[in-house]
Amino acid sequence: MPRLILEGKVFHLKEEESVLDCLLRHEIEVNYGCQAGVCQSCLLQSEGEVPEQAQKGLKETLRVQNYFLACQCQPQHDLVIKRPVQENFQAEVISLEHLTPEVVRLRLSIPEGFQYRPGQFLNLFHEGQSRSYSLASLPNEPFLELHVRRVPGGLFSQWIFQDLTRGKRVEMSAAQGECFYTPGRAGQPLLMIGTGTGLAPLYGIARDALAQGHTGPIRLYHGSSIPEGLYLQAELREWMARHSNFSYVACQSRGAVADGVRAGRAVEIALQEERDLKGWRVFLCGNPEMVKAAQRGCFLAGASVQDIYSDPFLPAASS
Ligand SMILES: Cc1cc2nc3c(=O)[nH]c(=O)nc-3n(C[C@H](O)[C@H](O)[C@H](O)COP(=O)(O)OP(=O)(O)OC[C@H]3O[C@@H](n4cnc5c(N)ncnc54)[C@H](O)[C@@H]3O)c2cc1C
Repeated sequence: MPRLILEGKVFHLKEEESVLDCLLRHEIEVNYGCQAGVCQSCLLQSEGEVPEQAQKGLKETLRVQNYFLACQCQPQHDLVIKRPVQENFQAEVISLEHLTPEVVRLRLSIPEGFQYRPGQFLNLFHEGQSRSYSLASLPNEPFLELHVRRVPGGLFSQWIFQDLTRGKRVEMSAAQGECFYTPGRAGQPLLMIGTGTGLAPLYGIARDALAQGHTGPIRLYHGSSIPEGLYLQAELREWMARHSNFSYVACQSRGAVADGVRAGRAVEIALQEERDLKGWRVFLCGNPEMVKAAQRGCFLAGASVQDIYSDPFLPAASS
């Protein structure tokens, strides 16, 4: 079986074991998050070539330097690997605001040299672990904005809801991900479907599109199973009054709904209303099941695969 050589130590891989699993089995401290090749927390660098699958989703600049995702890498030959020189950033908490009892708006200072596109995500680090959070702010705003949902017993959400206060410092990664607005096709219709804090990236992307003069329709469907998950409703309705090409539909999948809220799942309501998605650009964020169903539904309704951008909010896998 192939071996891993890290910092002079040799580790023997088991059959079909990933590099990440092998390192964790040997109790090597290594960053990781979703273990599904999305969050890119487990990025490592190899001296030689790595399997193609282990570089899926990485930027070309990283690929040519043999960076790879440890969770996706099952090498067929020995690998000499090292931890990347990580460009991490420190930011200060500017404010924490409860948008509902279940969702907090966390604003951070912008560290020097930190660059991003609205809708990308960053990884926060805490107690040797990391979690991804999407960027809802615009680069010309004087803060980074994250929307964090309370997850019962969740390490990071508990830390953010209970321990973080104004002035505290947090460590974070560079911005990552491909889910953002690119100008160039100003008249193209945009469909956005998000559940829970899946609204965060869409809030950033929609504002970015409007700020960049997007003229085509922008249809935002926000879903939650509970009323407390449907945050920022007043502001989003206000956008509709200000921008004739923007529409917003709040969808609640369980229980009695308030005035102006549609009963049902966001993905089903969106696909009932927008039946022909040929030529549309689609953004899907939040619950991984919803994202999967919506990818399929949007493709079947005519959207091209290259025009579907998605960020499933996969929970961090436990070790
Ligand atoms: C690309 C990406 C972007 C993300 N963006 C955001 C964002 O903008 N805002 C945001 O709030 N979250 C976002 N997430 C999810 C976030 O990274 C964390 O997974 C989430 O905050 C829970 O972390 P935690 O440490 O509080 O819970 P953990 O300690 O990881 O989990 C505690 C328990 O809750 C379970 N659990 C975790 N998440 C969920 C869930 N969603 N539903 C049900 N059970 C769950 C776990 O399996 C575990 O049993 C994103 C994830 C990804 C991959």
